[in-house]
Amino acid sequence: MAALIYLDAQTVHPVINGEWHRLAGALEPAEAITTLCGITDTPVFMPFSERRSHGIPRQCDECDTIYRRGHGIPSRRDRLSGRRATQE
Ligand SMILES: [Zn+2]
Repeated sequence: MAALIYLDAQTVHPVINGEWHRLAGALEPAEAITTLCGITDTPVFMPFSERRSHGIPRQCDECDTIYRRGHGIPSRRDRLSGRRATQE
């Protein structure tokens, strides 16, 4: 199993010594990545056009909760009920 990262390689502009560059080819698997919810896995880069080729990915509830809490964004449940975000 791998962490699939779908991206448009045309939008990836690595900055080296203050100048941004365009990629000459596809991105290759690199070091492990860690998600907000604590999963560590090796990334595999795929063209963005293939993002839905194996079904539509859904958002991780735990990552969503952590991100929203960190940015003061009401949780989906609180937003639906009209409550404001609270800092914990
Ligand atoms: Zn997650």
